[in-house]
Amino acid sequence: MHKILFATSEVYPLIKTGGLADVAASLPRALLKLGQDIKILLPAYPGVLENAAMTGLKDIAQVDVEGYSVSLKQTRLPGTKVVVWLVDIPQFFERPGNPYCGPDGNDWFDNHKRFYVFSRVAELIALDRLNLNWQPTIVHCNDWQTGLIPALLSLHIKRPASVFTVHNLAYRGLFSYQAFAELNLPAAFWHHERLEFYGQMSFIKGGLVFADYLTTVSPSYAQEIQHPEFGCGLDGLIRYRNDAIAGILNGVDTEEWNPGTDPHLVCNYNRRTLANKTKNKLSLQEELGLTISAEIPLLGFIGRLVNQKGVDLILAQMDQLVSQDCQLVILGSGLPHYEQALRKIAAQYPTKVAVTLGYNETVAHRIEASSDIFLMPSIFEPCGLNQMYSLRYGTLPVVHAVGGLRDTVFEETQ
Ligand code: ADP
Repeated sequence: MHKILFATSEVYPLIKTGGLADVAASLPRALLKLGQDIKILLPAYPGVLENAAMTGLKDIAQVDVEGYSVSLKQTRLPGTKVVVWLVDIPQFFERPGNPYCGPDGNDWFDNHKRFYVFSRVAELIALDRLNLNWQPTIVHCNDWQTGLIPALLSLHIKRPASVFTVHNLAYRGLFSYQAFAELNLPAAFWHHERLEFYGQMSFIKGGLVFADYLTTVSPSYAQEIQHPEFGCGLDGLIRYRNDAIAGILNGVDTEEWNPGTDPHLVCNYNRRTLANKTKNKLSLQEELGLTISAEIPLLGFIGRLVNQKGVDLILAQMDQLVSQDCQLVILGSGLPHYEQALRKIAAQYPTKVAVTLGYNETVAHRIEASSDIFLMPSIFEPCGLNQMYSLRYGTLPVVHAVGGLRDTVFEETQ
């Protein structure tokens, strides 16, 4: 049995912006079931504290870190036995907006400090300096926000092992030299074999360089990021660490995403009652003002509206799509120009195209259940979860054969 500290910047249902949150919830649950002693470490954003207050919240430590007063709080992942430790630093985390940017969509100006101090707290726990009577044997870090943890741990001879998982290499956690100088890091870290990246500081390099073991979220992506096309300038480093990297396919939470019991659906169904899937489609069509018809093929798309997700391809095909007898339901939020373009098309074809902008868990479940075809034309995709939800909901995923999409969606060859 291992003691595992699982450091993450988001975990469902406490806080979610993307797939990391889903995995940060389901992987620790699965590990706990396998008998591992795992605790999640998460920043205490306001929504998280609100959510946690309902589950039960207690203070377990108080400490000064880099001049900031930090209180460590304990709660549980709602509906599970997984312990979550919340790093409460009001100056950094008590803000509106999402974990990384403000309501205006711009990154917080001090993200380097926010996640540096968070990492320092992880380091203290990892070294058993907070008298918590619990020292991890493994620290599992996820994406750039936690990349500094393996770097900080490398400065100690007696330390737990570290694993760093790349959920998306495109987010490299880049900051200026000045930002680096503002952090209390060894000057020796400013080196291209450590944190320096073409004149900037890269948090993700902290994980890639210093973690004892690296994983990413699908076998194909583990290969792809070793080549310039998908390596985001880090492919050389990842090739260098080739013997310490594994691509392990993400799983999905089959309780949360189960059409037989999903509370978000108008009508539950399973493989024996597949006809009931149609009731969800008719209801969604009505709800969104589309022509109500079981026969018209309904195409769904859910995702962050960013270049990665292939939104340009969908927009480029829009004329063709609307000229055919089919419907398109889109849910997402992201870059303003995509939101604007989609809003315009929906206004132009109200009975054929429905666009819901923003984050909406219920609508996401309903789209998965109602669509005949799910579109996921990502340019690159580390793993991707929606195509797996589609498979579970009897919805045909049409995907670009790349990364985790290639590893999860197969053509029937006979
Ligand atoms: P990524 O992590 O790159 O955003 P994934 O496919 O791995 O992509 O995971 C995305 C997760 O976020 C899925 O659970 C998806 O349903 C959810 N999601 C994305 N956008 C929205 C949205 N606007 N509303 C609700 N859920 C969303």
